[in-house]
Amino acid sequence: MTTPFAEEHQMVIDLVDRFVREELMPLEKAVMAREAAGGQVALTAEEEAPLLAKCRDLGLWALDAPEEVGGVALPTTVMLAIQEKLKSTITPFIFPPDSPNLHMLMEAASPEQQIKYMQPYAQGEAKSCIAISEPGAGGDPAQMKTRAVREGDEWVINGRKIWVSNVPKSDFIILMATTDPGKGARGGITAFIVEPDTPGFFIEREIPMLAGARTYELVFDDVRLKDSQVLGEVGQGFAPMQTRLTVRRLEMGAMCVGMAERALGMMCEHTQQRETFGQKLSDRQAIQWWIADAATKIHACRLMVMDGAERQDRGEDVRTVASMIKVFATEMAQEIIDQAMQSFGAMGMSREMPFAILSERVRLARIYEGPSEVHRMVIARRTLRDYA
Ligand SMILES: Cc1cc2nc3c(=O)[nH]c(=O)nc-3n(C[C@H](O)[C@H](O)[C@H](O)COP(=O)(O)OP(=O)(O)OC[C@H]3O[C@@H](n4cnc5c(N)ncnc54)[C@H](O)[C@@H]3O)c2cc1C
Repeated sequence: MTTPFAEEHQMVIDLVDRFVREELMPLEKAVMAREAAGGQVALTAEEEAPLLAKCRDLGLWALDAPEEVGGVALPTTVMLAIQEKLKSTITPFIFPPDSPNLHMLMEAASPEQQIKYMQPYAQGEAKSCIAISEPGAGGDPAQMKTRAVREGDEWVINGRKIWVSNVPKSDFIILMATTDPGKGARGGITAFIVEPDTPGFFIEREIPMLAGARTYELVFDDVRLKDSQVLGEVGQGFAPMQTRLTVRRLEMGAMCVGMAERALGMMCEHTQQRETFGQKLSDRQAIQWWIADAATKIHACRLMVMDGAERQDRGEDVRTVASMIKVFATEMAQEIIDQAMQSFGAMGMSREMPFAILSERVRLARIYEGPSEVHRMVIARRTLRDYA
């Protein structure tokens, strides 16, 4: 952050910090135990309900939703500082709603869709997911084959999506499909809103992932939708989808700062207590260099994230910056979490410590919202163009 937060914003960030320490961290043990027994990294309904009630009471709700739909319209800088705090714990929790789909809806929803979908979503009363990836098109989504064909006054959709998160709890699915295969990302891809009880839609299978996560393979078999289910303009779905991906990529930068800071804190505490060969681990230069490099990289990454957030708040195009942040942040956090695990010895390898979930979570983050290699390709392309 190049400028300090306004007082009222700092108060919200401090409130979140307390919420994380007092409400979320005490649940970590139960979350780890369920994951170690093969379950999901998720809260039970009994754990989640009081947390939701509490954060609603505290006003930690609809934080970046527009004021017209009852939101607080916080700037990106504050949202990302909040994200950093939230992700310093392995207890999975967000202040509703999840921002990326909200921003896609804000950009593309019609007035009717705003009332039917965006308003309840913004107020945390509805959940959603987004289906982009396919078995043959993930890192390069413009190659998607799921086809939407116009028949009379309906769209008929056929295809298959995979690796989609949060499907079973979703009240609606944002589905990306090709409406003009010849045009690809430039005019050929359209976003649709699909309700889960639409005939022809079904979840084919649940796929267990690292860090106790789950994704889903989805089938769309002659799914028929009216024009009212087109999100945005026909053929113009790629731009609002990119907006959504950019919001998540910035969030992931903050998330990685939070995870790395947690690992660094644990490493510092542990190494100042543990003695080997008659000396504290923290007195060894090998360990001090991990700590120094970790503190330096976290600082650099936090500045990158805040710069990205300030640019986003100024309305600049931050797609390349978001790619840089995503690559740097995920790789930085992976390295620091790994060194922190190493400093704990066998204890760092156990599923009784948060490290296992942190390290698997950051490993996932190098793939979703685009693999690091694809982001490097994008960054290199733009950099080469700048110097052409
Ligand atoms: C936990 C998780 C949650 C997800 N949630 C969702 C979701 O909610 N909705 C959704 O639609 N999708 C979701 N995905 C899918 C995710 O976005 C894709 O997996 C990702 O974009 C990569 O696509 P792919 O798996 O098809 O890999 P591919 O595109 O086949 O790439 C495989 C590998 O090839 C390499 N590679 C690819 N292109 C290049 C290149 N140009 N240069 C160099 N190397 C390259 C990279 O190493 C890459 O990792 C999720 C994935 C995960 C892991």
